[in-house]
Amino acid sequence: MKIEVLRIGQRLVRDDRVTTHVALVSRAFGASKILMYDANPEIKDTISKVNSMWGSDFQVEIIDNWKKVLKTKKDDLYKIVHLTMYGENINSIETSLRNEEKIMVVVGAEKVPIEVYDIADYNVAIGNQPHSEIAALAILLDRISCGQQLQKKHDNAQREIVPTKKGKKVVDKTI
Ligand code: SAM
Repeated sequence: MKIEVLRIGQRLVRDDRVTTHVALVSRAFGASKILMYDANPEIKDTISKVNSMWGSDFQVEIIDNWKKVLKTKKDDLYKIVHLTMYGENINSIETSLRNEEKIMVVVGAEKVPIEVYDIADYNVAIGNQPHSEIAALAILLDRISCGQQLQKKHDNAQREIVPTKKGKKVVDKTI
């Protein structure tokens, strides 16, 4: 399944750390791209360094107009999956989500405009309590991949971790 993530909301510039973590989670849990507006361009550099060290060609795109992006994605047959505590519980719709071919996941920063609730094909709640966009995104992507993403290795990685019971073991694949 092709997965892209759109982060919307106010205060993104003042919220760099959370935005970076949303991007890192998107990459690590199987999305191919994150789109965001009003975000610090340094986040692009951070992700690019992570890509060269640990592999993948995950992309970061800074956009001007998220409404236009949502419309274009809908026209391109993406299903819009909006993460909100007001939505349908993930437990009841995860099977339908897994059967989709292309999804655009929308996560908010602060209050999300009501039109997003209308344009979304799925409004998905990771439980109906308020928590965090980072946690909500990680759980959604993990439910979609049924944990498979956690086994993934990247051919273009410079370094690869060998899981160990204690300590750290890392293989340098460039030598
Ligand atoms: N009160 C805000 C609202 O109206 O959406 C909550 C903002 S919350 C700090 C930021 C984002 O985290 C939300 O836009 C949503 O994408 C995500 N989020 C928080 N709790 C969630 C939950 N229980 N289920 C799904 N997404 C959640």
